[in-house]
Amino acid sequence: MAGRQYPLERTRNIGIMAHIDAGKTTLTERILFYTGVNYKIGDTHEGTATMDWMEQEQERGITITSAATTCHWTLQKEAKKAPGAEEHRINIIDTPGHVDFTVEVERSLRVLDGAVGVFCAKGGVEPQSENVWRQADKYNVPRMAFINKMDILGADFYNAVDMIKTRLGKNAVPLQLPIGKEDEFKGIIDLFEMQAYIYNDEKGEDISIVPIPEDMKDEAEEYRLNLVEKISETDDDLMMMYLEGEEPSNEELKAALRKATCTCTIIPVCCGTAYRNKGVQKLLDAVLEFMPAPTDIPAIDGVDDEGNAVVRHSSDEEPFSALAFKIMTDPFVGKLAFFRVYSGTLNSGSYVLNATKGKKERVGRILQMHANKREELDKVYSGDIAAAVGFKTTTTGDTICDEKFPVILESMEFPEPVIDVAIEPKTKASQGKMGEALAKLAEEDPTFRAHTDQETGQTIISGMGELHLEIIVDRLLREFKVEANVGAPQVAYKETFTKAVDVDSKYAKQSGGRGQYGHCKVKFEPMDANADKIFEFVSTVVGGAIPKEYIPA
Ligand code: GDP
Repeated sequence: MAGRQYPLERTRNIGIMAHIDAGKTTLTERILFYTGVNYKIGDTHEGTATMDWMEQEQERGITITSAATTCHWTLQKEAKKAPGAEEHRINIIDTPGHVDFTVEVERSLRVLDGAVGVFCAKGGVEPQSENVWRQADKYNVPRMAFINKMDILGADFYNAVDMIKTRLGKNAVPLQLPIGKEDEFKGIIDLFEMQAYIYNDEKGEDISIVPIPEDMKDEAEEYRLNLVEKISETDDDLMMMYLEGEEPSNEELKAALRKATCTCTIIPVCCGTAYRNKGVQKLLDAVLEFMPAPTDIPAIDGVDDEGNAVVRHSSDEEPFSALAFKIMTDPFVGKLAFFRVYSGTLNSGSYVLNATKGKKERVGRILQMHANKREELDKVYSGDIAAAVGFKTTTTGDTICDEKFPVILESMEFPEPVIDVAIEPKTKASQGKMGEALAKLAEEDPTFRAHTDQETGQTIISGMGELHLEIIVDRLLREFKVEANVGAPQVAYKETFTKAVDVDSKYAKQSGGRGQYGHCKVKFEPMDANADKIFEFVSTVVGGAIPKEYIPA
């Protein structure tokens, strides 16, 4: 069997994360265009972007699924010397930008090695970007920033950089400066090379590399100095040189910046406009130069079947271990389980252990997704991201591994659903079909639940927000041909928190507080951040204070 196609050092598993509308889809699409996967520049204005798999995503303009797509890139200066030499493989793990799908963001963050945050040059850091960044902080995901939409009215690169520093508390350091803005945005100054890249054509393929414009020379010098200073602060040798007035070479600076980025000490900042095809290739270069390879990230911890701590390194020599991070139903091949290999290798047609479920699974086929085609693989290696066909019991977050070396890797945490609605099929005859469909959707999505309410007999679906449940209802119709109505559940409201104390109907009756809510069960964890709100809510429902016996010490 042929060995691995790409050395681990030349693999990048990255996510593109952004506030909705910042341009993540457009950027992803342009990346696929420049990396040669996608030959036509689609336009998300018209909803033809390739990463948006599901019809409704296109309609809504949001990306719900976190599909992984593979593409290839060579540093532009290397490609000029010898095309195809030093080619890298980039796996892009798509992360949704809408607040209802933060769990999708979370699961993709779990398996990627680095992320590019896309910011709108006008809006800068929007509240949702803050949310996503905090999630990334939790997993120590090395990041860089792309200030997009430099062409729009009100674009302000410097303000966006400041916002990253103040709102996200990050050491954001520009690697580039924009030349002009809005209609006048022409190109980019590369602060390492101290040269200007001017984009001459609409597709961003005809680029002139010229001296920095006279009127920007001082500013470029100032920002170059800032770059050298910030990098030197992270490296003792460079700091010595800096203090002695010696200028380190670009190679030395880039090596140190790579380290600083991988340890989340610096956020390198690039700029451009995805829509107008400016700056995307330079961003790809920066991804190769500064985003970590699987070998740059710490080993992953796990426990074996006897509860002993185990560490798995990114190496083909170690036993196979992987994390399933996304289950999807594909119209052509059926259930697909996307997984990230942490250690070892896996052959198609072999058996693995789902250590989380304690079940054996057969790997039918292994697929790697490119924007517009699927590639069938015989074997995957550590650091790879691929999808398995044929898994029966695996769900999101499960560890799959070599049977002989069982391990459960650090798993993902999923929040409890926060809203409930009652759902019923338009025709009684579809009741069974709806039940099956809901079960399938719950299998794909750990934050979606469906159950039958014991008291009212209603089918209740629970999810992360209104949009989340709307999409479920939409999918029922499109994918399962079940038309359904939704409404408020008959039992007014249930909010469930773990380790709970019950305030039940008995007290509601005693206090004469049945009112509009009927009886109500509320479970709460007093240490929960929402405890105050829940107390308040319960008080309203039961029409008075909560009796002492229900308040835990
Ligand atoms: P997402 O929600 O982050 O995936 O954002 P999209 O990629 O769907 O972009 C949102 C909207 O902004 C679309 O109408 C894009 O065509 C537009 N857009 C994206 N990038 C740019 C840009 O650089 N300049 C301009 N003018 N529009 C852009």
